[in-house]
Amino acid sequence: MEGKSLPIVQVDASGHPVHPRKPPVDPATLVHREFLDGPFWQKIPAYRDVDEKTFLDHRWQAKKSITRPDKLMAAVQDLVSDKFLDDVKAGFAHAPMSVRVSPYLLSLVDWQNPYDDPIRRQFLPVYSHMLPDHPKLDLDSLHEQADAPTEGLTHRYPDKVLFLALDTCPVYCRFCTRSYAVGINTEEIEKVSLKANKDRWEKAFQYIESRPEIEDVVISGGDVYQLRAEHLTKIGHRLLDIPHVRRMRFATKGPAVMPQKLLTDDAWVRALVEIVERGRRMCKEVVIHTHFTHPNEITAISKRAMDRMFQSGVIVRNQSVLQRGVNDTPAVMKLFVKKLSFINVQPYYVYIHDLVKGAEDMRTTVATAVELEKQVRGVTAGFNTPTFVVDAPGGGGKRVVHSFEHYNRETGVSVYRSPNVNADAFYLYFDPIDLLPESGRARWANPDEHDAIIAEAIEAARDFQR
Ligand SMILES: *Cc1c(COP(=O)(O)O)cnc(C)c1O
Ligand code: SF4
Repeated sequence: MEGKSLPIVQVDASGHPVHPRKPPVDPATLVHREFLDGPFWQKIPAYRDVDEKTFLDHRWQAKKSITRPDKLMAAVQDLVSDKFLDDVKAGFAHAPMSVRVSPYLLSLVDWQNPYDDPIRRQFLPVYSHMLPDHPKLDLDSLHEQADAPTEGLTHRYPDKVLFLALDTCPVYCRFCTRSYAVGINTEEIEKVSLKANKDRWEKAFQYIESRPEIEDVVISGGDVYQLRAEHLTKIGHRLLDIPHVRRMRFATKGPAVMPQKLLTDDAWVRALVEIVERGRRMCKEVVIHTHFTHPNEITAISKRAMDRMFQSGVIVRNQSVLQRGVNDTPAVMKLFVKKLSFINVQPYYVYIHDLVKGAEDMRTTVATAVELEKQVRGVTAGFNTPTFVVDAPGGGGKRVVHSFEHYNRETGVSVYRSPNVNADAFYLYFDPIDLLPESGRARWANPDEHDAIIAEAIEAARDFQR
């Protein structure tokens, strides 16, 4: 071979490639194009006789959502063991977050193996999996309350605000970052009140009006799915009327947990599409940001709902949370990204799990996130490749997970800077202690070590800057 360069594509005598560089894939591997369809819910005892029309009715989904262990037992009956049911009962009693699960989600759980099921893990607490909270956790770990000029409005970044319109959701996630406000009071927590309230909203709108630098408004909650159509209309048009507001995002987990609403709540969809279309005429962007977490949540019903959004000109982006035992492997994350892309939902962010009370078993390490990002980038279009971010505790805002100044894998402490929020501050994230090496776990086990662990990390970050 000396002196000769290798041919890039080998050809046979008649010039046809014999070893094409990119062999076609076996179509059977294109599983991201397969969507669970048919009356899959009928395998749940309580829904055995439920027809499609009923299952697609969003009011039925809301009415039949489960908030108590006895109702769960009645729904799944003999599908699960007594041991599991007792574990869930104890889980409900100890959970800081309220529980609410739609029949749709219940139907997607693999009840043969509920402990490992990614949807069960997100919505139904089991006591035997609970871990002690991290010693550095506090309730509003993102300091949304501290950065609020009016109640329920967080102004942290220069040109964007987060507006929490209400405090209820179509489902309640066990890992909710806003468990300080969202859901009903539980035995564990008395919540901050952020109810749907026109006077509170008007104060937020007036603040936005008074600050010409604000161009971007995230309308969240709770969940805007729970807003009545006329409230959606009121909020949407009031914000469009503010000249300097250029971009609005309605944040809702709804498409992931109750896609039925987008197919059958015509008044709500019409209200949304009217805001989007008026925004477009005004050259302002109005989009939906949703929150799928696992490929199993993306069914033929989700696809129909997202098709309706796309055909109505509504852009949908996704922000998901990296969760242990849910979506923390390359295979799941790649399938997830491909599946979202296929239904025209842009995978925008994957958040490292916040420090949330009662959800320590769902968090994973920064190292895991760094590795996953490498595995996922390149699998599809760059604009459909999520950015992996840490929403730095203490109000630092979102930082790209790789951008730490320092990361100590032994103690699990990573240190970030956030110059647009505070040029001088360091923001720290903490890996879950149970995933640290033995030596790191031992240091955290001794409270006298905690200050030293943190001081060392900050010192190392300063060194890196010098
Ligand atoms: C996430 C967030 C935003 C929006 O940030 P993007 O990076 O633009 O998606 C705005 N305000 C607050 C307080 C936030 O947490
Ligand atoms: S839908 Fe969002 S705001 Fe509501 S409980 Fe889940 S994570 Fe929290």
